[in-house]
Amino acid sequence: MTASGLPMTVSAQGLPARVRIHEVGARDGLQNEKTVVPTEVKAEFVHRLAAAGLPVVEATSFVHPRWVPQLADAEELFGRLGDLDAAMLPVLVPNDRGLDRALALGARSVAVFASATESFAQANLNRTVDEALAMFAPVVARSKEAGVRVRGYLSMCFGDPWEGPVPLPQVVRVCRALLDMGCDELSLGDTIGVATPGHVRALLTALNGADVPTDRIGVHFHDTYGQALANTLAALEHGVTTVDASAGGLGGCPYAKSATGNLATEDLVWMLHGLGIDTGVDLTALTATSVWMAEALGRPSPSRTVRALSHKE
Ligand code: MG
Repeated sequence: MTASGLPMTVSAQGLPARVRIHEVGARDGLQNEKTVVPTEVKAEFVHRLAAAGLPVVEATSFVHPRWVPQLADAEELFGRLGDLDAAMLPVLVPNDRGLDRALALGARSVAVFASATESFAQANLNRTVDEALAMFAPVVARSKEAGVRVRGYLSMCFGDPWEGPVPLPQVVRVCRALLDMGCDELSLGDTIGVATPGHVRALLTALNGADVPTDRIGVHFHDTYGQALANTLAALEHGVTTVDASAGGLGGCPYAKSATGNLATEDLVWMLHGLGIDTGVDLTALTATSVWMAEALGRPSPSRTVRALSHKE
């Protein structure tokens, strides 16, 4: 660490000048925490993340509260974010009812969540992969009619806890289907964190071969095996410029039974700024936000960068 608490900057060849960080801490993070955070704390969290310069702050999920009790306050939370631009606050919608709820509140950006594997589609959605896609098709079509941006999440793009390694053509097929139904952007999820950089390159190359352009692809890595930043760098070298991360590393991985899940936004920002890649994020403000949220959750942040920057002698 330099005296300023910021990384030294040494640029490298062949990397994008700017990366758009898609912050998922308030949704993917808190949804996977045991503690249910009060709505006013969530609202302050989203406001602080936006104030720290994150361009996209995924806010919540309009799934049925029975499935995700941590996010049962989606309506009330979204109502407290009216001072922010709704276009920077994507929300998850599983079906037509969820979309109705989101549109009624003025959502301008939504996400559906598909699976690359049958096992996870059954576990998470109680449907086959194709039944889930059929459920999302009208959601995506109606969103596009309403002028709302749609992101298509795809879980288990690399490995699946029940099926093992996931064949590339299987992932490519579902990605293609999501784009064909109108999704603006994909987010390739390494839900159990088993990917390694060669696998990332192979999947991105296979997607390009199926006419999926790199500028429609975001990556969503988990740090379960310590590979998230290496995988991110491989994706950046391929030309990817949208990277998902969770402030403070919020959200364990419920399927890997591990404390470490989402890539921490601070760890990502440290690497990107060290490479001279612009993110618009104020790392000091972001770290202070994650320290504050860790106190609200009653446990330290798993982010190495948060720990390093907040360590007091
Ligand atoms: Mg995640």
